[in-house]
Amino acid sequence: MAQRRTFLKQAGLLLGSAAILPHTVFACNRAAKKLGVCLVGLGNYSENLLAPALQLTKHCELRGIVTGSPEKIPIWQKRHGIPDKNVYSYETMNGIANNDDIDVMYIVLPTGLHAEYAIKAAETGKHVWCEKPMAKTVKECQSIIDACTKNKVKLAIGYRMQHEPNTQKVISWAKTKPYGQIQKIQAEIGFNIRNPADTWRMKKELGGGLLYDVGVYAINAMRYTTALEPISVLASYENTRPEVYKEVPETTIFDFQFPEGIQAHGRTTGRENINILRAACEQGWYELSPFQAYSGVQGSASDGVLLNTYIENQQARQMDDDALAILQDGPVLAPGENGMQDIALIEAIISSAETGRSVRIS
Ligand code: NAD
Repeated sequence: MAQRRTFLKQAGLLLGSAAILPHTVFACNRAAKKLGVCLVGLGNYSENLLAPALQLTKHCELRGIVTGSPEKIPIWQKRHGIPDKNVYSYETMNGIANNDDIDVMYIVLPTGLHAEYAIKAAETGKHVWCEKPMAKTVKECQSIIDACTKNKVKLAIGYRMQHEPNTQKVISWAKTKPYGQIQKIQAEIGFNIRNPADTWRMKKELGGGLLYDVGVYAINAMRYTTALEPISVLASYENTRPEVYKEVPETTIFDFQFPEGIQAHGRTTGRENINILRAACEQGWYELSPFQAYSGVQGSASDGVLLNTYIENQQARQMDDDALAILQDGPVLAPGENGMQDIALIEAIISSAETGRSVRIS
């Protein structure tokens, strides 16, 4: 029970339905004010997913940018109507402290840079949204949480799946158990990457490979599907292409033991297209496949129930939920503690894979 409460607290779910479905609950009490969001890092996710999503949001809008690439500035200014005074570099971003247009700094940088810039963002006194995975180490995660606490700003991690309605149904079933007690979980995510690009994701320090990049979705899913925290993990690596996967493993397998006898099998791989979250229960099963996709998260259950609610844009839903949490001074769905626990589990997985031993999780 203690472990269940810990997850719920970390996931911001203990405060009842307002925390589970802020989008719906606050819909009847919409605040007129829109929050100004500043994107920190203008790579693929900012350019192709977040900036377009910010055109669909009701409670926030794109007002500023932080970039180290001057050639991107005129393009972004023209496309999004961003004035000169709201354009910053990594060196000048502390000036945002005096810019009333900006309410939220959204960190969309390589994982190994999240802590440095999330802390800088918190020190401007603006709220912080930080992309997943939260950071490279638990120590870094804690330093982000501490900086946000010290500066009295909210911190939300970009776990968009926790804002997605089919996923939220699965999250609710951890409590209501419509198919009885969960016995086994399968959470696997991978891609058949024939020629992986040699980018920051493949660097041990800056990215950490597939385990950090997408394995974190499988780990987070095991936790929200059970609403429990694991007791131990036994992990291993497979690398059939060491000439390509030089710094990070191609495949990581992680088998967690959860309380209540639940066994959870996880895997992340660069060799195979796989995207499944499945719960086998005493009286049936349910699954989402894909469980992590920009659109079209869907699934089914053993009694024929379909999990196929469609929403237009997950990122817009996530940012509106997180903006409402600020405007209404409520809890965020995915707080820093939720992101930090996944990084603690990644550290346990790495320790187990490197030693070949089962690692107990404190
Ligand atoms: P990207 O490589 O396309 O962009 C990274 C940006 O960081 C670039 O603009 C680059 O110029 C900048 N940068 C600054 N310093 C850098 C350095 N030292 N090395 C490399 N780049 C540097 O990456 P992305 O796909 O936009 O991912 C950014 C973040 O967003 C990551 O944390 C990633 O996990 C996250 N992300 C989340 C989702 C999601 O669905 N929630 C999807 C994609 C990416």
